[in-house]
Amino acid sequence: MTTQHRDLRTGQPIWLGKRTPRIQTNLLLHDVETDIAVIGAGISGALMAESLSESGYDVAIFDRRLPVTGSTPASTALLQFEIDIPLHHLARKIGQNDAERAWRRSKLAVDVLRERTRRLGIDCEMENRDSLYLTGDLLDKQGLENELNARRRAGFETRMLGREELKAEFRIDREAALMSFDNIEANPRRLAIGYLRKAMERGAKVFAPAEIASVECNARNVVALTTTGQKIRCRHLIFATGYEIPEQVPQKGHSIISTWALATPPQKRNLWPQRCLIWEASDPYLYMRTTTDGRIIVGGEDEEFEDEEKRDVKLPAKTKAILAKLKKLFPGVVAEADYAWTGSFGSSSTGLPSIGTVPGMKRCYAVLGYGGNGITFSMVAAQLIRSLITGQGDPDADLFAFK
Ligand SMILES: Cc1cc2nc3c(=O)[nH]c(=O)nc-3n(C[C@H](O)[C@H](O)[C@H](O)COP(=O)(O)OP(=O)(O)OC[C@H]3O[C@@H](n4cnc5c(N)ncnc54)[C@H](O)[C@@H]3O)c2cc1C
Repeated sequence: MTTQHRDLRTGQPIWLGKRTPRIQTNLLLHDVETDIAVIGAGISGALMAESLSESGYDVAIFDRRLPVTGSTPASTALLQFEIDIPLHHLARKIGQNDAERAWRRSKLAVDVLRERTRRLGIDCEMENRDSLYLTGDLLDKQGLENELNARRRAGFETRMLGREELKAEFRIDREAALMSFDNIEANPRRLAIGYLRKAMERGAKVFAPAEIASVECNARNVVALTTTGQKIRCRHLIFATGYEIPEQVPQKGHSIISTWALATPPQKRNLWPQRCLIWEASDPYLYMRTTTDGRIIVGGEDEEFEDEEKRDVKLPAKTKAILAKLKKLFPGVVAEADYAWTGSFGSSSTGLPSIGTVPGMKRCYAVLGYGGNGITFSMVAAQLIRSLITGQGDPDADLFAFK
């Protein structure tokens, strides 16, 4: 099999309890010829398909599951440009120039996602949100000051808040926090379905369930074979398979992390002012946001993934631990879980993804290692891989390329 088969999530993600538009899928009963084959109909595949169909390519999308039923509907969808690894730490790992380049590209991706989603008229509960990065076991007040300086040097508008300001403005009792501006929250399921539907309006076809078993390529084209024997001939193939990582892709430096999340009952009157995204300079960190109907989504307690059974059995205990942390930060909220779920995602030692041509596979591209910025990096991938396919090239291709 070209990709592993994982149980990507368990429990009840909030987004699966909400109504969403339907996607018209096709059964794969015969061979297919297309310009671009996208393997995976999650947010990565959806953004790729939309972007390539806009450039005039004939696109076909294949998924072993129904569309948008992998990791994407489990996402808490804090769509941030701030990368998991603080900028001044990343600079120590990969050099200041590349670290600043990665952060700026991430910011650009969030801006593009917001502007493109609005221009395409995709209705996905998208809101602009500032974010608060609280002191934690990774960075104390001095650490946040170093981070402030690094971000300002790179050109990011950032504000430092001390204890008194945090209390007065947000009712939070912490030593300090950094505030960033113009991030996004959204319903990730509606977001992905919206992009798939735009691609389909331009003629893209979604085949599901259709599982790719093997891929062969040469200088002129690519041939993929499904588990039921159909051949897909294409000029370019993109693995947008999330954390079911293709066997051909180098995985050094990447790992799989499990995270746990929950959504409280609606409580509009208890929410913090401005409803900004909140996360901590800790490892693992707590992260939270609100929803349009006034719930709090909160997650964290991340651990290295061992196996699905061990991850899933921890759901009640992790839910309890997250609720206790929520109550400690905001004593006035209703800390109960209407929805609780767990899922796994890829991670890399730098917090950066790998995006680009698969080594040794001409005309095949992949995306790997998303960290907590998965959806932001899916947007980077859609831009970057389109540029590789059109031959325009991308100034950051070297930064994210498979090594
Ligand atoms: C609990 C949780 C919270 C998260 N929170 C955030 C967050 O706040 N912000 C953020 O940016 N990111 C977050 N992420 C990460 C983000 O959700 C993911 O990076 C993103 O959804 C991955 O999308 P994808 O399209 O790459 O993968 P998926 O949605 O998993 O889609 C990949 C698809 O590929 C298909 N596939 C795989 N192999 C094959 C094959 N051989 N043939 C056919 N089809 C195949 C699968 O069936 C699947 O549908 C979170 C993740 C989790 C689990």
